[in-house]
Amino acid sequence: MGITIKSKSELAIMREAGKLTCGAIWYAGERLKPGMTTLEVDKLIGEFYQQHGCKSCFKGLYGFPANACISVNDEVIHGIPKASRRLKEGDIVSIDTGAAYMGFNGDSCWTFPVGKISDEARALLEVTEASLYEGIAKAEAGARIGDISHAVEEYCASRGYGIVRNYCGHGIGREVHESPEIPNWGNPGKGPRLVSGMTICIEPMINVRGDDVKTLKDGWTVVTKSGSLSAHFEHTIAITPDGPVILTRP
Ligand code: MG
Ligand code: MG
Repeated sequence: MGITIKSKSELAIMREAGKLTCGAIWYAGERLKPGMTTLEVDKLIGEFYQQHGCKSCFKGLYGFPANACISVNDEVIHGIPKASRRLKEGDIVSIDTGAAYMGFNGDSCWTFPVGKISDEARALLEVTEASLYEGIAKAEAGARIGDISHAVEEYCASRGYGIVRNYCGHGIGREVHESPEIPNWGNPGKGPRLVSGMTICIEPMINVRGDDVKTLKDGWTVVTKSGSLSAHFEHTIAITPDGPVILTRP
C-alpha cells in the first residue's frame, strides 16, 4: 500500500481508532502485576476492545495469533502472549496493539514497569519515550521522513543506546502497514516529504546495549542479541497544517 492522504472525515475515524488503541493499552498496562501471565494481559486488551465495539487489527495480521504483541525485558517486539509466561517484579513489558474501527486502524505501543524496576530499566524507558517525542516534534508538513529518523537516532545514540535497525515505523490507515517506512535512524532532509493528511506511526525500539536482534524459534518473538533490555514506544500521529497531532492519546 502506497502513501495515502486522509480526508477530514477519515481523520475523525482515525482519531477514534487511536483513542480505542490507547484505551486498550492503558487498560491492560495499569493492571500489570507480578504473577500475571502475558496471555492474561492479552485477554484484558481483547476485553477492552469487545466492551468498546471494536477489534484488534493485530489478530490475524500476517497470521499473528493474539490481540497484542507483548514483549518482556530483552524481547524487542512481536512477543506472543503465553499462559506459560509469568510477569515478575522488575520486568518491563511492551504492549503493542491497534484497534480496527470503521475500516481504519490505530497502532501504538507503551513499555510499562512491573513494580519496582532497576535504574537501568527506568533510564531506558525514559530515553525511549523521550526519543519518540523528539521524532514527533519533527513531523511537520513539508519536512521529510529523515528529519524524524535523525531526531530519534541522535537522541538515543548520543546517550549510548542501541537503535534497532531491522524494524521501522510506517504509514497507517485502512491498512495497518502503509508507506512510507519510518526508520529510527537516518539523515535530515532525506526521504519522502510529509504532507497534511498523512497518518504515520513513529516507533523507536531501543536497546540498552547493541542494536543486533534475532528472532526466536517461534517465528515471531524478536530479542536483543546482547541479552540487554529493550523498550518500544509508538504513537499514531496525523500530519496537519497545525503541526503533528497524536491520535493514540486519551
Ligand atoms: Mg507500528
Ligand atoms: Mg505497533
